[in-house]
Amino acid sequence: MSQLYDVDQFVPAPSVELICAVCQNVLLDPVECDCRHVFCRSCISKWLAEGPDSSCPKCRSRVSVISLRTVVPLLQNLLNELQLRCANAGCDWQKSLEQYDAHVKVCAFRRLPCPHKGCFQTLPSDSLGAHKEACEHRVIKCSDWCGLDFTLQQRSSHNCRTAVLTLLNGMQSCLNNK
Ligand SMILES: [Zn+2]
Ligand SMILES: [Zn+2]
Ligand SMILES: [Zn+2]
Ligand SMILES: [Zn+2]
Ligand SMILES: [Zn+2]
Repeated sequence: MSQLYDVDQFVPAPSVELICAVCQNVLLDPVECDCRHVFCRSCISKWLAEGPDSSCPKCRSRVSVISLRTVVPLLQNLLNELQLRCANAGCDWQKSLEQYDAHVKVCAFRRLPCPHKGCFQTLPSDSLGAHKEACEHRVIKCSDWCGLDFTLQQRSSHNCRTAVLTLLNGMQSCLNNK
């Protein structure tokens, strides 16, 4: 899993003891090796699994996965109390790391993907509703005559007769290919 936050978001910048030497980011779910060096759980596990030898990334002393320990509560508390800004543009939220996860889930400035097929835009959640309505990839049903589906983009060029003929032609070639 990638980090949910970036080291630049922290105000003030976190002290080096709270930075993981593997990912250079603020420790996430930290664990301690026998040599007392601390890394993110996922970073050190990956390092030990993929590296040529099982050694600490910092001091090169031997480390085994089973010897990894959860850090003292004090360190976790220090991390939880770090202040950081929300990563979403336009949002002025700034609180502790402990509250960050809960905030990003509900942040009004978080970007969500448009659900319409063919549209690859992401939008701040508070303007997604308006976009979904106006999105040219929104599918609508013709209320004139044919009742066929088309996207908002195709509305001005939609012609019931042509649409039905195209559909029939498609069916025809489908049957011919059988
Ligand atoms: Zn890390
Ligand atoms: Zn070490
Ligand atoms: Zn936010
Ligand atoms: Zn869209
Ligand atoms: Zn029509």
